[in-house]
Amino acid sequence: MAGIYLHIPFCKQACHYCDFHFSTSLKLKDSIITSICKEIELQQSFAKNDQISTIYLGGGTPSLLNATELNRIFNQIYKCFNVYTNVEITIEANPDDLNFSYLYSLKKETPINRLSIGIQSFYNEDLKAMNRAHDAKDSKSVISKAQDIGFNNISADLIFGTHTMSLDRWKNNLKMMLNFKIPHISIYGLTVEPKTAWEHFIKTGKYPKLNDKTFEEQFLMTQQILTEAGFRQYEISNYAQEGGHSKHNSSYWNGSEYLGIGPSSHSYYDGKRYWNLNNNTQYLKALSQNKIPSTEEVLSERDRYNEFIMTQLRLINGLSKTSLKVFDKKYQDYFNQEIKSLLLAKEILESPTHFWIPSEKRILTDRISQALFYVD
Ligand code: SF4
Repeated sequence: MAGIYLHIPFCKQACHYCDFHFSTSLKLKDSIITSICKEIELQQSFAKNDQISTIYLGGGTPSLLNATELNRIFNQIYKCFNVYTNVEITIEANPDDLNFSYLYSLKKETPINRLSIGIQSFYNEDLKAMNRAHDAKDSKSVISKAQDIGFNNISADLIFGTHTMSLDRWKNNLKMMLNFKIPHISIYGLTVEPKTAWEHFIKTGKYPKLNDKTFEEQFLMTQQILTEAGFRQYEISNYAQEGGHSKHNSSYWNGSEYLGIGPSSHSYYDGKRYWNLNNNTQYLKALSQNKIPSTEEVLSERDRYNEFIMTQLRLINGLSKTSLKVFDKKYQDYFNQEIKSLLLAKEILESPTHFWIPSEKRILTDRISQALFYVD
């Protein structure tokens, strides 16, 4: 089973924390859709002997495309690939785009069957600090609106750790989210990425530095509240009710093949990784000449080993001992040596088949993974 990721590189405005590739000018929207369709055609040999089981529209803001524009892309996918009957098709959507008539058109006119909604907070002060395009009223109304229209497979995102987020407010955000009874919730701790407005605001004193203690308290509070409500933290940032996990994202973590389409998208197939150019104009130019502007990413075995450690330890099931065996003995020996102290400190637990980080230590995931990284 293989997946397709489509990157829609447009947003209404730039969120202060975001370092993804997007443009706030929609001038090139139509041409980019045409080029995306072209790229799909050029990539039709992907997964020739397989079925496409997940399609994920991310970005950027895919909900800036109307149903007709989305169907141009879907029709092309159905024409070029063998799509599984029960395919999971997710669109990332922002609350300000999801008015009743848009939701209705997504439900009635497109094959989309899963929404991933960027709520981030139910409070205006947080949304304003993040420079989100929606307000608290949108956050509070959008999920029920989508459910009323018939979308049941819904995921929603929340962000903790901002200077505006008190412990009480974070607790309320989680409780409000739980009231909607959706099957999937993604929880992200704010990270200050280089060259973002947020980083600039901290450097210039406009925003305070993030508080590590609050960050940790909010992470632990999330685990407690969502677990008590019946959610499983199947990946460090992702919680799902039974059967509600994201099939698309799980395939990234499980090493399945995926094809990325659109500027800045990444792909993994035939044992290689590729990434597309992150420039809309150059992307258009290349596709107008029937060329895919992608570069093969050559990872050394050390990089692959380190990445394997990092992604697998983020999963609740942890790292499989069998998968570790694909690496050179040098890396296996290193792992077996370094894991000893982590096992002793109970920061990692072991079964006959897996190693994993217990839930009370998951806040330390980055530090624990780094202890197992191979450094030349
Ligand atoms: S809407 Fe999403 S992609 Fe666009 S700027 Fe905000 S976080 Fe980034």
